[in-house]
Amino acid sequence: MTIQAPAHPLSPPEIVVNQAVPEDERVWVPQAPNVWFRPLMLNTVNGQWCNLLRVRRAGVLSRHRHPAPVHGYVIKGSWRYLEHDWVATEGSYVFEPPGETHTLVVDPDVPEMITFFNISGCMYYVDEQGNHTGFEDVFSKIDMCRKHYIAAGLGERYVDQFVR
Ligand code: FE
Repeated sequence: MTIQAPAHPLSPPEIVVNQAVPEDERVWVPQAPNVWFRPLMLNTVNGQWCNLLRVRRAGVLSRHRHPAPVHGYVIKGSWRYLEHDWVATEGSYVFEPPGETHTLVVDPDVPEMITFFNISGCMYYVDEQGNHTGFEDVFSKIDMCRKHYIAAGLGERYVDQFVR
């Protein structure tokens, strides 16, 4: 039995992803060699997005700065930031404060890591000197998803289910 949900008519529809870690490999969007993301919620009103990051290689992945908060939950494997002495191990929650610049590293003994990230604003990428090299926001993420899902045969509308 379903109880009538008291949703406001202006409230956007909910999102439920039963296989957050998908069985269909095509759902993973390639980000870089051996690095993928899986969209869960792409928020065009707040400029924010929730996704899984999957990495199957060791070494430095990126150096970046956050202008807004990031929340992470490690589902599989582990990773760390060169600027800190902690390791985000399986089951860990991480809060990344706005204003922090850090360098994401996966160690050689980790064959695969999967982490849920809730990211606001943008990923502001920098080089070793701190110079700006690029950025990603919810709109560039949507564009990447759409392009990949067309090429992967899931269709140009596949990403729309995650967009609010
Ligand atoms: Fe970060």
